[in-house]
Order: sequence, then C-alpha cells, then structure tokens
Amino acid sequence: MSQDSKVVLVTGAARGIGLAATERFLRDGWSVVMLDREGAELAAAARAIGQPERVLPLTLDVSNPDDGAQAVEAVRARFGRLDALVNNAGIAHFGPAMETPLAIWNEIMAVNLTGPFILSQAFFPLLRDRGGAIVNITSISGLRASTLRVAYGTSKAGLAHLTRQLAVELASYGIRVNAVAPGPVETAMAKKVHSPEIRKDYHDAIPLNRYGLPEELADAIFFLCSPASTYITGQVLAVDGGFDAAGIGLPTLRRDIGNG
Ligand code: NAD
Repeated sequence: MSQDSKVVLVTGAARGIGLAATERFLRDGWSVVMLDREGAELAAAARAIGQPERVLPLTLDVSNPDDGAQAVEAVRARFGRLDALVNNAGIAHFGPAMETPLAIWNEIMAVNLTGPFILSQAFFPLLRDRGGAIVNITSISGLRASTLRVAYGTSKAGLAHLTRQLAVELASYGIRVNAVAPGPVETAMAKKVHSPEIRKDYHDAIPLNRYGLPEELADAIFFLCSPASTYITGQVLAVDGGFDAAGIGLPTLRRDIGNG
C-alpha cells in the first residue's frame, strides 16, 4: 500500500532522542516506523502517541540482519515507501580501556556501528526509489577522545566515517547521508553512564553550560531529512552547546556572572 505522507523509520524510538525525533516528524505530517528492541516500552510509547494510522511500532534488534529484512517487509507492506532512515539506536558502556571486556566491545560495535550498516543496506532499494535521506546519530565522544569511552567513542567515530562513505557512494542514487553528534542529553542512557564527575566535566567543557534537550536533537535530525537540507550530505553536525568548538578553559567574559 502506498501513501501520500512521507515515511521515516527511527531506530531506538521507544524513548529519549528517538522518541523526540518520532514526535518531531509526526508534527510535520510524516508517518513514522518506530523500531526498538524493548517491546513493552515501545508499545507504551506508541500507545501514548495515539496515532495508529501514522505510527508503526516494530520490536526488532538493529544488530540482527534477519530483523533488518523483517523491517523492510513490514515497511513495504504497510507504507510501500521510505523517505528517511534515522539510525539512532545505541548503547553505551563507560570503563577503562584496559578493563573493557571483549564481549562488551563486540556488543557496542554490533549495535552502534554494524546496526546502521545493516539497515542502510536493507533499506537502500526503498530509499533509492524516493531519493531519501539517512541520518546517523553519532556522539561528541566520536569527535574527540576522552577516558572511559574506548568502545563507545570508537563505535561513534566509525559511524561518522560510515556516514561519509555512504554519502559519497549513495550520492549518485540521490540519497543523502549525514550524522548528528549530540552532546550530553538527559535520557535513560545519560542516567546510566554519566557519573557526578562526568556531569561536572561536561558543564565545565560546554560553552552553553547545560545538557541538551531531546527536542533540540530532534530538530537537527528533522532538518537533515527535510527539503531544507537538499544540498547537504556527508556532514557530521554537532548539536552540543559548543563543546566541539572549545578546547582550553572557558572563562566567561560576562562581568555580571563572573567565573565561578
Ligand atoms: P536511550 O537509552 O534513552 O535510548 C536508546 C534506545 O535505543 C532505547 O529505547 C533502546 O531500547 C534502543 N536500542 C538499544 N539497542 C537497540 C538495538 N540493538 N535494537 C533496537 N533498539 C535498540 O538513549 P538516548 O540517549 O536517547 O540515545 C540515542 C542515541 O543518541 C544513541 O545512539 C546514543 O549513543 C546517542 N547519544 C546520546 C547522548 C546522551 O547524552 N544521551 C550523547 C551522545 C550521543
């Protein structure tokens, strides 16, 4: 069945940035395929949105190629088209490099890097039909190195390069591929891995001096899938309160708030 409204598939859509992106696309009249491996949380999120004619929840795992094929079949059957793919699902583990178990390393690579590759391949034929867009969600941990993020940061740096590889190869099919690199955002993931020390470091390192909101990330994701960005491909857009622009100390020049 084909339909008039545009269709986006968002992975990791049950909560956090993926759920905010889902709501952003719906607000602009798109239909949304919400994919997540947490079935109960996904069903609850889809129910709360309450637009069953425009929302298709799929309980699948991005790191499993069979699940990727199943997602394509489900999208073909329900909507007959795909205009954008948002590879947002991700997992984090923070720990010293020399103590990171191989199993954790492999799991992080499978979800954060191989997952977007699997889905980009699987949805290529549908995206090619529409001259669609792919947006990968990387991280500031993939732009700059730090302690504790050997697997997570490396997976996100790999995803940034996958973004550029696919942008160059798929341009001739009219498919644009970009990435959004979030700074810290208050989600379930941040609650899991951001210790009080890490939170303090972020505040010290971020010129805008606060965490981002899921909705601020959703706006950037939506922009990169929309007709407002038709000449943009192969880019990694940091949505990070200025983190990536900064390097050494950040004394404020505002006399009214001082430095400390
Ligand atoms: P979150 O944990 O709140 O949400 C992630 C969602 O992805 C969850 O619903 C989870 O069930 C789903 N998911 C995980 N593995 C999956 C799999 N294999 N298959 C399908 N679904 C899966 O996290 P979030 O903060 O919303 O993160 C979204 C993206 O943003 C991630 O890629 C994350 O790495 C990135 N990011 C987040 C932050 C932050 O501070 N929150 C910072 C930088 C980057």
